[in-house]
Parts: sequence; C-alpha cells; structure tokens
Amino acid sequence: MGTDVTAVVERIYGDVLRRNRGETEFHQAVREVLDSLAVVLARHAEFLEMKTIERICEPERQVIFRVPWQDDRGEVHINRGFRVEFNSALGPYKGGLRFHPSVDVGIVKFLGFEQVFKNALTGMPIGGGKGGSDFDPKGRSDAEVMRFCQSFMTELYRHLGEYTDVPAGDIGVGAREIGYLFGQYKRITNRYESGVITGKGLGWGGALVRTEATGYGAAFFAAAMMEAAGESFDGKRVTVSGSGNVAVYGIEKVHQLGGTVVACSDSSGSVVDEKGIDLDVLKQVKEVERARIAEYAERVPSASFVEGGSIWDVPCDVAVPSATQNELDGDAAAVLARNGCRYVVEGANMPSTPDAVRVFREAGIAFAPGKAANAGGVATSALEMQQNASRDRWTFEHTEARLEEIMRGIHARCSETAEEYGSPGDLVLGANVAGFLQVAEAVHAHGLV
Ligand code: GLU
Repeated sequence: MGTDVTAVVERIYGDVLRRNRGETEFHQAVREVLDSLAVVLARHAEFLEMKTIERICEPERQVIFRVPWQDDRGEVHINRGFRVEFNSALGPYKGGLRFHPSVDVGIVKFLGFEQVFKNALTGMPIGGGKGGSDFDPKGRSDAEVMRFCQSFMTELYRHLGEYTDVPAGDIGVGAREIGYLFGQYKRITNRYESGVITGKGLGWGGALVRTEATGYGAAFFAAAMMEAAGESFDGKRVTVSGSGNVAVYGIEKVHQLGGTVVACSDSSGSVVDEKGIDLDVLKQVKEVERARIAEYAERVPSASFVEGGSIWDVPCDVAVPSATQNELDGDAAAVLARNGCRYVVEGANMPSTPDAVRVFREAGIAFAPGKAANAGGVATSALEMQQNASRDRWTFEHTEARLEEIMRGIHARCSETAEEYGSPGDLVLGANVAGFLQVAEAVHAHGLV
C-alpha cells in the first residue's frame, strides 16, 4: 500500500535539524521546499526508494577555511571562509560569494540549497553552491579588500575550476572583488581560465548585462506575472528595498517598463521620492561614493529620508524585497496587504519570512519566490560562461533578449507546474516542484552517488 509521504517528509526534516544544529536559515529553506514535495513523492516512488530528497538536502562537500590578512595599520585579522558545494547533478557548482559579518555555515548552506533549485529553473547546465566569509568590507580601503581577496583565494583556488566550481558575486562582492579574486587565481594556477568565475570586468572576459541581470530579471519576471493577470507595470507604484546591485537595476528596469519606484532603502533607513527614484543620483551615492542613502534625500528636493523604520509602510502596488534574508516579516506583510499591495516579487534570496508568505497567500497577493524571480543573475552568469567557452562576445541587446526569454520561461514553467500539481497560481509550489524534479531526475540517473 501507499507510503505515508507526510511522515517521510517529517522524518527527512527531523534529520536535517539534527544534522545541522542551530542553522536556522538552512532549516527554514529546507522546510519551505519540503512543504511542496508531498505531491511529487506521491507520483515518484523511485525518489523514496533511492532517498533522493535526503541526498539533495545533504551538501556534496563543505569547505571551511582560515583567511588571515593584515589591515593598513599592520594589524592582523583572521576571518573564516566557506564554500558549500551543494549539488553538481546538472553542472559545475555555481553560486556567489558573500562577504558580510553575518555569514556563517548556516547562511551559506541556506543560500547554496536555494541556489540548487534556482539554477535548475534557469534551464542552464549549472549545479548549485555558495560561499563567502564573515569579513566586513564596510569602511575598508581598496588595498585591504585586495589583500583579503588574495588570502581568501589562496585557499579557495584548489576547489575551483571551470568544470568544477564557478563562483561569482553576492552581497559585499562586486566587480572590484571579482577582479582581485580572479587575478589571484590566475597567478596561482598560471592559467587564464576565464570560465572559473563570473561577473568579470567587461574588458577581461565579463559579459554585458551581467551587472544588471538580477534586477532586470526580477522586473521581467514581475512583468510576466502581471501579464498573466492581464496587467502591466503601467502606472504601478513600486517599492524596492535595498540599494545594492539588485535594487539599483531592478529600479532601472521597472522604470523602463512603465512603473514608478517611489522608495528604496539601506541598512540605515529608507528614502521616499514620489517623483520616482532618480537613478543617476542613487548610483552616484551608493555605487560611486559608497555612502548612506540619506545622502540621496540631501540632493533630491522631492525626496525624504526616514531613519530606521520599515520601507513596507510605504503604500505600493508591487513590492520587490531586494536587500537580504528575512527582511520582510508577517507584520510588514500585513501592512502591505492592508495598503493594497497586489504583487510581491523577491529580488533577494528568501527575504520574506514564512509568516509573511502565509499573509500574502491569505490576502490573495501574487507572490514570486526568489529562487524563481532572482534567477536572472545566475542565468546571465551561465551566459558569461558560454561566451568564455566559445571565446565569443555577445551584444547587450542579444544578451538582454536571452535574459528576458529565460525569465519568461521560468515564469511559464512555474505556472504550468503549479497547475499540473493542483495549485494554480502558486509560484512557490511551482518553483519548488519544477526545480526539484529537474535536479532529482539527474541525481537519480547518476546512480547512488
Ligand atoms: N549571487 C547570485 C545569486 O544569488 C548570483 C550567483 C552567480 O551568478 O553565480 O543567484
């Protein structure tokens, strides 16, 4: 007779809790995927028999290493470096590096786990991994950041390779850091292995649109959701939390598609600008000067700065959380719902808490999980790898068209899967099931590995 799939799922979750004690973000990410999988297990006895879910929840390899470096005053610092090589069933491990004081093994594992499904959804041949360090680049000079990156890569290089593991950026790791990391990899290995890291500079193997890709991709995904409901960005009020790479280019594309972004934020507070965020000023403040967002309000007369507080208090039609994990909780979600928000599209990785997602569902808000909506960054990394492998260089227009096609494809696949598995419109279920099936079928085909 049929197996009790709910009991199996609970046993797997119990094992994950026991084996990864205290790693709360990882538990949260696993729980969220497992909650979608009962319907899959009911149709795929082979995944039960071969413990395919258990294998997908256990990283293939986890590397933790010491990163010693010296600051400009000569003081010695010791940071911790991580690389979690989660799953290589679909291709080399692929995923960013995050430099932020909050980074620990649980954070890297949650990000790596999400990455596995996200990468599968892109339809590109990339497995999932993630890495980083608890190094805080804030306030550090270029020379300090360079020394840190060199020390970090001096250990990490032995685990990388264009057919093995291909990092990129994430929070705290942008073009500058990728340059230092690639330079050190090249020096140690004596190989110009362009495809070993993505997000490279345009003059040395980087791809056009990679910088913009995560934000642009989230906006394309949102547009596809609206079209499915017979709507568009035209005349919509949008709030985008954060003011890093994802937020900046998300704002740019929303404006190009006819929406108005009225607020964005950083860790110090938010700015509200009813005229629509002026991107030139925002880029100058955040990307060039690396200053606080309050600076924006100093320079733009129509803007005001709200210290601390929650950007989700600002009424909007569309909310795009693009800062960091668990930045939008149940209370904030209730405020969004009360103020008439209709779409929530995750630009960051897991920015909404489980409570928030529950509130969205009950309020009938259309919700796109990060592993679908923010896949544009890593998808374009795969396009960068493709260009590196063929020693070719595509135009901006061609690359952007590919990105839009990929994002629309992910939306279509998530919607169709949700429908096929009995929950029309549920993009969480659609993304989890479609991503899982793609990975699980490959894992299964490779035998007990
Ligand atoms: N860090 C990005 C993400 O969360 C991009 C990863 C990549 O390009 O490899 O998907």
